Amino acid sequence: MRLIWRGAARVQGDPRGPGGPPHLRITIMGVLEMGALQKIGGKRLWRGVHVPEHKESTCHLPIRRMPFAPMLVTPLSQHTGAPAKAIVREGQEVVRGEPIAAADGFVSVPMHAPATGRVERIALAPSARGELTRAIYIRPYASASQEVLYGAPQEIEHMTPEEIVLAVQATGVVGLGGAAFPTHVKLKVPDGKHIDTVIVNGCECEPYLTSDHRVMLEHPEQVLHGARVAMKAVGAARAIVGVEDNKMDAVEALRKANGARTDKTAGISIEPVAAKYPQGAEKMLIKVLLGREIPSGGLPADIGVGVFNVATLAQIGELLPRRQGLIERVVTITGPGVAKPGNYLVALGTPIRWALEQAGCTDQAASVILGGPMMGASIGSFDVPITKGVTGILVLTSRDSNAHIFPCIHCASCVNICPMHLNPSQLGMLARKERYGEMAAEYHLNDCFECGCCSYVCPAHIPLVQYFRVAKQTNRKARARA
Ligand code: SF4
Ligand code: SF4
Repeated sequence: MRLIWRGAARVQGDPRGPGGPPHLRITIMGVLEMGALQKIGGKRLWRGVHVPEHKESTCHLPIRRMPFAPMLVTPLSQHTGAPAKAIVREGQEVVRGEPIAAADGFVSVPMHAPATGRVERIALAPSARGELTRAIYIRPYASASQEVLYGAPQEIEHMTPEEIVLAVQATGVVGLGGAAFPTHVKLKVPDGKHIDTVIVNGCECEPYLTSDHRVMLEHPEQVLHGARVAMKAVGAARAIVGVEDNKMDAVEALRKANGARTDKTAGISIEPVAAKYPQGAEKMLIKVLLGREIPSGGLPADIGVGVFNVATLAQIGELLPRRQGLIERVVTITGPGVAKPGNYLVALGTPIRWALEQAGCTDQAASVILGGPMMGASIGSFDVPITKGVTGILVLTSRDSNAHIFPCIHCASCVNICPMHLNPSQLGMLARKERYGEMAAEYHLNDCFECGCCSYVCPAHIPLVQYFRVAKQTNRKARARA
């Protein structure tokens, strides 16, 4: 199998964005007024796109546990914030679930041993971003039962919000929807702010991915328990679980678990929302569920909302009462290059190479993407381990990827589709000239949440969102240097 470094994916197909295939889109954009475009096919296509879902090969399959790899690699930095500090030494035996690295400050989380075994070494390992990061290598014992014996029950009902925040930090849970931002930081309400609503994000609008769907179907009680913990921590009286209406079985499962008449008393409701990409972006979901808008450069807390991914809360619901740490997660492994697609419960630190072997990666595989095709990124090495933020592994064949880029034809498709009302065409032009500072100062680059809609609809196949990621990263480094 050959690896193509592309930065992110573009999946071919018939984008039911503005007007279908590229040649047709261009014609439509050239002759119709913007308002007319909104009414094509009787659908509201304005802002955001209807992408082919490709979820059918995994959404019906129950979660399966993946065998332990011969070596598990736990990077000390797999979350936003300061890397954790190793608290084990080479040669030490560890028990599954035991803390092996401590949080380094408030915006940091600890790491826990994903298997009972021996610390082989603490050394550099490849990361999804392409750079080498420090990691703890653990060789699992083949003869160990791998039961999680570490942990002790704790009573959450009587904990204060501050105690909950610290207890969540101790679990090492971060945003499992891909952001990997420490969850306890989001649970701590900033001074002067008031949160009245917790939104539980069960949209999973990325094509191909179904891990959140399966978690909602198979573990609805944990999701709801995690939601109650979040409500208590932030002091919110209500929670709304937003689920795209292409997952009505998950809506039913959650409603059943919540109890037909306990929705109101528990303060939790389950709301289906229209399936449309990027419905799961927090700005979009808040707007559709509450009608509130986050101001430019603001946070959900500014408008009284806390947003948490559904799998994140399921983990909190499971781990917090047991005082245990995050050691595994559900990962969708799918795509045309996979023989046994499915949702796998994978030990953190499992190398991608091992995961793909278990899922039966075929000879046709040409490109491997961590996450979905819209927001995911290609990897440069199969030795990259699965970390807390990995939602899925998508394996594409050469037929599914398109590497030809043409000059901008100024069709305005990207402008009309951007959910943040940005001008991706102009931003792309500035990016090519490396005028990154100007992009942020005058064209609101930082409001871009990298949904990839602009790249998706661009008939010239210009990798706009990849340009924006590079621009943001360059600006971040420049700020750090300053
Ligand atoms: S500019 Fe950013 S927010 Fe707008 S469509 Fe492109 S990636 Fe999405
Ligand atoms: S960047 Fe692509 S979508 Fe945007 S105006 Fe140019 S050709 Fe059209």
